[in-house]
Amino acid sequence: MGRSLWERVLDLLFPPKCTFCHELLAESELEDRICAQCLAELQPQQIQLSGEFLDGGYSLFSYGGKVRQSIHRFKFNGRKEYAPVYARLLSTEIRQAEWIEKIDVVTYVPTNRRNVRKRGYNHAALLAKYVAFNLRLDMIPMLEKIRETQGMYGLKPHERRANIMGAIKISCDTEQITGKNVLLVDDIFTTGATAGECACVLRMAGAAKVFVLTVAKTEKSY
Ligand SMILES: [Zn+2]
Repeated sequence: MGRSLWERVLDLLFPPKCTFCHELLAESELEDRICAQCLAELQPQQIQLSGEFLDGGYSLFSYGGKVRQSIHRFKFNGRKEYAPVYARLLSTEIRQAEWIEKIDVVTYVPTNRRNVRKRGYNHAALLAKYVAFNLRLDMIPMLEKIRETQGMYGLKPHERRANIMGAIKISCDTEQITGKNVLLVDDIFTTGATAGECACVLRMAGAAKVFVLTVAKTEKSY
């Protein structure tokens, strides 16, 4: 898909930078929004994810270096244009998973409302929207945070579980969940406490299976 005239004008006014290293892109790299060096360096992988209530899942990258900086800009510096770039990489990789055929619907891990208000967008919802579009599936917001949780950074695994437990509830009609195999999308997978809680709530609402897909996975749990 080529870029429109308007996109080309915007590119001249605000020269696009690489999603990962934030360097200016060459003409041939504009379409993918990733520079040749990062493309060679950051080979997307299929890092297996597992956890309680999850039927499987993948992350593309280990969380660190350029990937960490990129996700940080995506979440905290307004770089919502990264969502389709990540989603394209995720969709390409997930098409090779044997369980992809089973997915019926896409949703995302909910974020504290305060953060969404502050950022002006919900990063996980954007990511899920583009992944669903690429997979030709519906994206349905299914979950919401009913209490604000503290940041997970620095918490031990059992503290993460306690922090998230009971903080998420269903926000859609359960008919949209019953019997469905749901793909849960998020930016980062750490211990799986949050994804597991989402999966638990979805299953209680009747979901048949829950898979998870994230851009990155942290090596350490805290
Ligand atoms: Zn780069």
